[in-house]
Amino acid sequence: SGAYAQGKELVVATDTAFVPFEFKQGNTYVGFDIDLWAAVAKELNLKYKLQPMDFNGIIPGLQTKNIDAALAGITIRDDRKKVIDFSDPYYESGLAILVSDKNSDIKDAKSLAGKTVAVKTGTATVDYLKAQVPDAKLKLFPNIDNAYLELATGRVDAAVHDTPNVQYYANTAGKGRVKVVGSLKSGDFYGIAFPKGSDLVPQVNKALATLKANGQYDAIYEKWFGKKP
Ligand code: GLN
Repeated sequence: SGAYAQGKELVVATDTAFVPFEFKQGNTYVGFDIDLWAAVAKELNLKYKLQPMDFNGIIPGLQTKNIDAALAGITIRDDRKKVIDFSDPYYESGLAILVSDKNSDIKDAKSLAGKTVAVKTGTATVDYLKAQVPDAKLKLFPNIDNAYLELATGRVDAAVHDTPNVQYYANTAGKGRVKVVGSLKSGDFYGIAFPKGSDLVPQVNKALATLKANGQYDAIYEKWFGKKP
């Protein structure tokens, strides 16, 4: 039994805005996660519809089984593994700081003490900063685009978020206005997330292994991030 066996249309959640993993282009969502899931679904012959939602709602949605799977650059963590299941890791990530182009005093975690820092609700960044820089004043945004806007208009001193996202933003929409300064953390891994006990997990892991072996994973990676270093 289960969603996979029944062949029903799966509800697959993504974040509303997390460049370049998922973001709106015209009327459709595009990005690394979107392409990766499309390839997995093709491999497994799955029907699905995408459901973009605030990151903060994704884990609760999986817990209540309103969502069958989610791709949102979700960091695999032991506390999350207690309430949801993850696929094998599909992307290595970390956290970095974004500041105005003109800023010269913020460069590492320590220099965020006493500063106002824009972060995204429910993300690993919030837990990291609360533990490592308890003096930082966190300003929470459900959508990171609004956090970056706040930085651009000078209402916060910095924004902290996942490294690939801040880097991509700094090289595209934020170019010439913001820069990436400190690498706070590395060695995080993203996984595709599922309700606990979902029968999709082993199938999706098999598909991910196939896509890594046959070059499709690399092609999707290069489309969004360029050649692997
Ligand atoms: N990687 C972050 C986390 O898992 C969230 C990334 C995002 O904003 N989609 O907490």
